[in-house]
Amino acid sequence: MTMESEESREADPEKTDTSSSKIDRSHQIFEARGLWKIYDMGEVKVTALRDVDFDLFEGELLVLLGASGSGKSTLLNILGGLDKPTEGSVRYRDIILSESDDYQLTQYRRQHVGFVFQFYHLLPELTILENATLPAMVGGGKTSVAVARDQAAALLEQFGLGHRLAHRPRELSGGERQRAAIARALVNKPSVLLADEPTGNLDEETGNEILDVLSQLHQDGLTVIVVTHNLEIAPRGDCVVHLRHGQIDHTATLAQ
Ligand code: ADP
Ligand code: MG
Repeated sequence: MTMESEESREADPEKTDTSSSKIDRSHQIFEARGLWKIYDMGEVKVTALRDVDFDLFEGELLVLLGASGSGKSTLLNILGGLDKPTEGSVRYRDIILSESDDYQLTQYRRQHVGFVFQFYHLLPELTILENATLPAMVGGGKTSVAVARDQAAALLEQFGLGHRLAHRPRELSGGERQRAAIARALVNKPSVLLADEPTGNLDEETGNEILDVLSQLHQDGLTVIVVTHNLEIAPRGDCVVHLRHGQIDHTATLAQ
């Protein structure tokens, strides 16, 4: 990153502004510079990210779009502190994730990040309420278990699952499972929600319901990244970033 590019960004904050007035460009959530991720498979090295710069601001709903294998999950996992770059820097507010150790990354994830995955990742032996309360029970979160349980119940209620609290995941539809997973992601009151193909396992109508939930959370002020290979989801974002073979495709991004 050069001073020049930083200054030109400062000088023209409207340049990349989009329809949403809620985006706060004075509060940066993520700043990644020169990110490389190379998976060393012994004989073969797979380059998943090539010199990626990435910014996310408070209140943004960013759609990270790209074909399968383009590096979307790799980038999201690095932002979420689940993985580290091979090279480059990544910062969440004042926490330099690329220099954090495993303990610090775990604390970071528990306190600041909510994750939503394509296949929900609910624990089958726990009820929906227990699943949604779980992040607060593993410690390091900002809330006590009793408060978290009430919050989880309230979130599940908000997402139309109030009558499902004592049910196991297998008794729920895909859309209901994903809504339960969103409740779980929110129970520790994260600042940012990272959703990796949240509609990838759902039919179109149910997928749209899940996107409506994410849009509503964004309207209410949450910062959200939605990873998808589905072009139709792009208009949901304030901002769309295209990844292609591990690189940000600026032509496609600006064309949006
Ligand atoms: P996307 O989420 O866009 O489908 P990924 O980030 O999962 O893409 O993967 C990007 C590239 O990195 C792919 O070529 C994939 O095979 C490779 N890759 C991802 N995770 C690993 C891993 N743990 N080990 C080796 N290669 C990986
Ligand atoms: Mg992926």
